[in-house]
Amino acid sequence: MAPLTILAHPDTRLRTPCAPLTAFDADLARLVADLLDTLKAAGGIGLSAPQVGDLRRVSVMDLAGDRTAPEVFVNPEIVARRRWGIVEESCLSVPGVVGNVLRATRVLVRAADPAGEPFERELEDMHAVCLQHEVDHLNGKLFIERLSPIRRLRLRLEDARARRRAAAAERQAGRRPA
Ligand SMILES: [Zn+2]
Repeated sequence: MAPLTILAHPDTRLRTPCAPLTAFDADLARLVADLLDTLKAAGGIGLSAPQVGDLRRVSVMDLAGDRTAPEVFVNPEIVARRRWGIVEESCLSVPGVVGNVLRATRVLVRAADPAGEPFERELEDMHAVCLQHEVDHLNGKLFIERLSPIRRLRLRLEDARARRRAAAAERQAGRRPA
């Protein structure tokens, strides 16, 4: 098991909805172990398979400061949402961006464990918010799409500027014809 490379926006694999997983096998167990290692190495609280380029519906979370509370959700589905709030989010795949998002702060989730055993759990506060962020990943959606229109516009302008700068630097290095 080793930490994997986390894909960064705008990688198209982060925009691809994942199909429900049906094979609860040794390969899934390996993916789960790798996701947990990667999450720990990155210092995050949640990570989903598409973030490492694997399009299986698997998310892991660990909200404990000492990394002792790993949670695994296979095929997670949010079946009820209660209480809404504006929360500040960031994402390992969108480095440097922090933004406010409207989320339910209490959710009921239905999922399976890596052995295929179904379970239901009620999550609150950061737990609930993190799970919604991860389910978004499995649906090919990033939290920046949930930011306010003005914030999104500003990020798009910054993106375009960064792309122009990168292209100019590559041209200067002679790696790409102008
Ligand atoms: Zn994320």
